[in-house]
Amino acid sequence: MARYVKDFSEGNKDQKDLLGGKGANLAEMTRLGLPVPPGFTITTEACRAYMADGEVPPELRVEVTQALRHLEDTMGRQLGDVHEPLLVSVRSGAKFSMPGMMETVLNVGLNDASVNGLTEFSGDERFAWDSYRRLIQMFGRTVLGIDGDVFADALDKAKAARGVTSDVDLTAADLRELVGTFKHIVREQSGRDFPQHPREQLDMAIVAVFNSWGTERARLYRRRERISDDLGTAVNVVTMVFGNLGPDSGTGVAFTRDPATGMTGDYGDYLANAQGEDVVAGIRNTLSLHDMEKVDPKAYRELRKVMRQLETHYRDLCDIEFTIERGKLWMLQTRVGKRTANAAFRIATQLVDEHLITMDEALSRVTGAQLSQLLFPQFAAGSDAVLLTKAMAASPGAAVGAAVFDPVTAQEWAATGKDVILVRRETNPDDLGGMIAAVGILTARGGKTSHAAVVARGMGRTAVVGAEELVIDPVARSLTCKGRTVVEGDVLAIDGSTGEVFLGDVPVVPSPVTTYLEDGLDAALAQAGDGEAAELVRAVDRILVHADQVRRLRVHANADNAADAARARRLGAQGVGLCRTEHQFLGERRVLIEHVVLAETDEDKQSALDALLPLQRGDFVELLEAMDSLPTTIRLLDPPLHEFLPDLTSLSVKVALAAERGEVDEQDVKLLAAVEHMHEANPMLGLRGVRLGLVVRGLFELQIRAICEAVADRLAAGGHPHAEIMVPLIGSVQELRLVRDMATTIMAEVSQTRGVTIDLPVGCMIELPRAALTAGRIADEAQFFSFGTNDLTQTTWGFSRDDVEGAFFAQYTSNGVLSVSPFETIDELGVGRLVKIAVDEGRATRPELGLGVCGEHGGDPESIRFFHGAGLDYVSCSPFRVPVARLEAGRAAVEGNTVSDSR
Ligand code: ADP
Ligand code: MG
Ligand code: MG
Repeated sequence: MARYVKDFSEGNKDQKDLLGGKGANLAEMTRLGLPVPPGFTITTEACRAYMADGEVPPELRVEVTQALRHLEDTMGRQLGDVHEPLLVSVRSGAKFSMPGMMETVLNVGLNDASVNGLTEFSGDERFAWDSYRRLIQMFGRTVLGIDGDVFADALDKAKAARGVTSDVDLTAADLRELVGTFKHIVREQSGRDFPQHPREQLDMAIVAVFNSWGTERARLYRRRERISDDLGTAVNVVTMVFGNLGPDSGTGVAFTRDPATGMTGDYGDYLANAQGEDVVAGIRNTLSLHDMEKVDPKAYRELRKVMRQLETHYRDLCDIEFTIERGKLWMLQTRVGKRTANAAFRIATQLVDEHLITMDEALSRVTGAQLSQLLFPQFAAGSDAVLLTKAMAASPGAAVGAAVFDPVTAQEWAATGKDVILVRRETNPDDLGGMIAAVGILTARGGKTSHAAVVARGMGRTAVVGAEELVIDPVARSLTCKGRTVVEGDVLAIDGSTGEVFLGDVPVVPSPVTTYLEDGLDAALAQAGDGEAAELVRAVDRILVHADQVRRLRVHANADNAADAARARRLGAQGVGLCRTEHQFLGERRVLIEHVVLAETDEDKQSALDALLPLQRGDFVELLEAMDSLPTTIRLLDPPLHEFLPDLTSLSVKVALAAERGEVDEQDVKLLAAVEHMHEANPMLGLRGVRLGLVVRGLFELQIRAICEAVADRLAAGGHPHAEIMVPLIGSVQELRLVRDMATTIMAEVSQTRGVTIDLPVGCMIELPRAALTAGRIADEAQFFSFGTNDLTQTTWGFSRDDVEGAFFAQYTSNGVLSVSPFETIDELGVGRLVKIAVDEGRATRPELGLGVCGEHGGDPESIRFFHGAGLDYVSCSPFRVPVARLEAGRAAVEGNTVSDSR
């Protein structure tokens, strides 16, 4: 059995790890009996061996020889034969598609002799020389590393000399001359001759594809997409078929449905008499598939048949590359196509209605990130901004920003916090950095399948492409359109859902999906009308309802006041997992805290506390009313006290200046002394949380009493309050025991005076490693745990978030220490391990222990999957993340029930 090489007839679509996406799908199409040119795949394992050893494994040469011989036998032709040459393409293809990132060489096998064979064999001399010049051009650029512009310039010169504008108008003689020029360029630029030996061409091209995995732009792309650098790429060697054999030949790309909306129909571009990338490179104007039907009805019908077959087989939107050679259709690639968030939801439910997938699968095919994209606001109608032009809506959203005309400026301006729109004639992989930095992308050329469109959709950037009315001058950094000029810095607004481009700012309104989430289906449908927006709203509703049915995790919200809580509840929150009480001590109430701190006698302190009590109680009554009958977890004061007092420096200055003027303010002097006394070198690890509550007596007592009285008030009003008391920063069970005793006493007192039974659950945050490690003991005193994964991450890593994130995380992600910030996605190995220990040991002590998480990770898709697996009861996240968390909790629950692969 060959180790590194597989024939297309040997593989299938599930072998992406080994064959890469392209190879696996070529094999699958071969298995389905579709017209795929014969060929073989060099596996990713060969690439990994090459990366590890820095040289091609010796077995590979032998296996390629065998596979090539088999291919030659099948085709009855030999690679680079002087009479009837077999030609092949050498194509990269990794597990995850990386559009435009890596390299392909076409027409391998042509040389000074076989080009004549090709003429003979095809009866078309022009075609033969066109193919040869393409080989030298692609080989020179990708394999020999020569700047592609040098070839492009030579081609332009040849056209100019002939007085023609299109490459198809060059004659055989012109092209033969161009081949001479190209060979000269190769010699000049690389110091060697273009290799004439077909096998040498093949071997060099294979190594070049291996090497393209490691280029800087490929790395940048993978970092963004979180694809591991270790996977390596496969290499596909495919018999050439020719779309450049005259007007009855051509090449095209198509989607089985519209990747922007999900609608079924003809979506694609076709270019007659062209090869390979011509169709997406914008060198000539393409035909729509619809127009292709008129040019070549027979091939069109066959193409449509294959597209339907693929969609039924893959049970998803597919995108394809095809070539027509003298009227015969050849399939060169397919894959499950990337799509916009809007289309993802609509396609998923369309496929359910077509009985191709189940609701569980539909759920697994959309992501929380896509749902968040649908919440982007849209442009309001009736603004007075000038409509510059309308072009192709390539990636939805409404983006407003300053026009910039090159990727470097885009990055620089974005780094200063400016929103920018990147305006380019067309984009290529070198623009990637600028595309990431921009809020929107606008191009003058290219279609729905152009680089700009594909990449923008992939990263959820708003994009409008193919705005042919724009005349862009990258050197002058300006564009003109219908007599208007836009210079760098002018504000543009682009609508990626309609393709409209406005000069000037345009106000935005909520998306119908936001309306759905906030105000329900009827309100959203009323806003949406009955077109595509309504279909989207219905699709989101069906999938979210299904997620709610299947998920095991509850979703709570972090909400500090009644307004936030009410909003969270509308968005589907089933409780408040974290009410931070610290803001209730700011604003006008701050002076009361100063009194508590400065009080000289117990009476003074008590009177300040007494003044705070009704205010706190009022906050809690409102909150409990908003969350009536749902669990409401209230955390006692967490941050260090000095956060409520004036800043040390400014207070010192104030006191000093006053002293100079001889106007000493007694209160300020006392305050300054207190602030100095409380100053900490490292407040994050200082007197805060439970420590503060135990040391500065009165504060926790006040808060607990306010909670109990609020509960009594709500009960008296006929409500169903479910308050829970949560103690922050516990490190030892004794700390919790002291607060619990305090709470038990106060609950008894309030029960007594108010004539009701108040018995609230008391639990704690698990946010210090020691708490996690002694969770079995802490659970003796805690009725619930809530993982504070922000602090737990800080204390486990020893990272002070505010200090390290901006300072060196960028370096840490580029040198591979971190693949993603542990503050965004939970570090499963370290912090996650502590969570698991605490879950296991806590539950061992107290089986009915409630378990949740209230750090920011509660709204992060990958972390939610982890918490589901770890057996928590709920995640709590900020209100606007609640729908995302509902969806992701549903996806976590159905994972493993489905056979789909959505990448
Ligand atoms: P990418 O991954 O960038 O799409 P591909 O390997 O698919 O690169 O190839 C680039 C272009 O060359 C595509 O348009 C493809 O259809 C075309 N192509 C690749 N192999 C062949 C072949 N054997 N015959 C004809 N065209 C080919
Ligand atoms: Mg391709
Ligand atoms: Mg904390």
